[in-house]
Amino acid sequence: MGGKIKAMDKKIALIRGDGIGPEIVAQAKKVLDGVAGLYNHKFSYDDVDMGGIAIDKWQDPLPEEMLKKCLESDSVLLGAVGGNKWNSMPGDKRPERGLLRLRAGMGVYSNNRPAKIWPQLASASPLRPSIVEKGIDFIIVRELIGGIYFGAHRTEEEYGQKKATDILSYTESEIERIGRIGFETARKRRKKLCSVEKSNVLDSSRLWKAVMHRLAPEYPDVELSDMLVDNCAMQIVKDPSQFDVIVTENMFGDILSDEASMITGSIGMIPSSSLGSTSCGLYEPIHGSAPDIAGMDIANPIGTILSAAMMLRFSFDMPAEADCIERAVSDVLDMGCRTADIMPADPDEAAKCRKVGCSQMGELILENLRKD
Ligand code: NAD
Repeated sequence: MGGKIKAMDKKIALIRGDGIGPEIVAQAKKVLDGVAGLYNHKFSYDDVDMGGIAIDKWQDPLPEEMLKKCLESDSVLLGAVGGNKWNSMPGDKRPERGLLRLRAGMGVYSNNRPAKIWPQLASASPLRPSIVEKGIDFIIVRELIGGIYFGAHRTEEEYGQKKATDILSYTESEIERIGRIGFETARKRRKKLCSVEKSNVLDSSRLWKAVMHRLAPEYPDVELSDMLVDNCAMQIVKDPSQFDVIVTENMFGDILSDEASMITGSIGMIPSSSLGSTSCGLYEPIHGSAPDIAGMDIANPIGTILSAAMMLRFSFDMPAEADCIERAVSDVLDMGCRTADIMPADPDEAAKCRKVGCSQMGELILENLRKD
């Protein structure tokens, strides 16, 4: 099987970022190099400064030249950006603004975040076993470059006090293109799409709902349902097994996907992909830069390593190589190796596991890469 795979050259823009970013990206690069060796591919890397590190070096969270490097690559792998040091900067100079500019500059409008429980980590879920046993395996398709994060932001004085305004708007075409990704994603899975909005209050949500229902007849094999975002937040903890694919706007997706990550055990395990109309995607774990544990070699690198696997699968058309990484992660979990965040709370369970650091986890996954 391995013999049929064509050797490929790919250029990957690497954004290590801030906090634990450099530690976790180093592990993902190690694993990518291992896969390249195993399958005869050549991956080259272009280092890109973004976030706090770019502010310190270039007084800009994403200099144009850095964005250009990303656009010229075959795909981008990002650790995380941000940290207390830059929290007092003005809005347009903060590390996170670099991330928003990168997403917009790459035109990646669709963010795909799986929420799947690894059987080895079922006990790490904060949900009751009776809920977890029903299965957790859904995907949140989040609109990424529209909505309130990209609307006008304004703070002004009014009647002797400050007043702040953020604008939330969506056009029909913005909703339609993400809606289609939702339907297409559901079509490849269990064919259930839940559109999440707040149509009882917001005009933008009423338009969202109308567009989803206009698209529905084009996907007769997919069952479309609607849910208000507040109810969805409750249903994710009450009965997550009901969901297959959730499609929602930028801010709702941001919040719901963090909630979904927690019920699967740890935020450190979840990868994400962001894609637009080209194959050049942005791949990143869903967590932030975790300044509280930065530099301690205890962060979980698996979310970033699985993001690299998604890059191979979705941007480089390398499904066997992606499977190879995911299998190695599963094998290492089977061996009982755990970073601190996924160690079982129960002392008896913990005694059966081996606590490892960030670089050790990367090394173990590398050592367990094998062709099927
Ligand atoms: P966070 O995700 O960085 O951390 C939340 C908690 O999860 C912390 O206790 C942290 O130690 C833990 N955690 C996160 N990733 C982990 C990992 N891989 N292994 C083990 N534990 C992990 O969220 P936060 O504390 O709200 O934000 C910290 C900084 O990150 C802020 O500056 C924020 O703006 C930024 N941020 C960046 C991104 C991004 O780069 N995409 C996303 C979210 C937050």
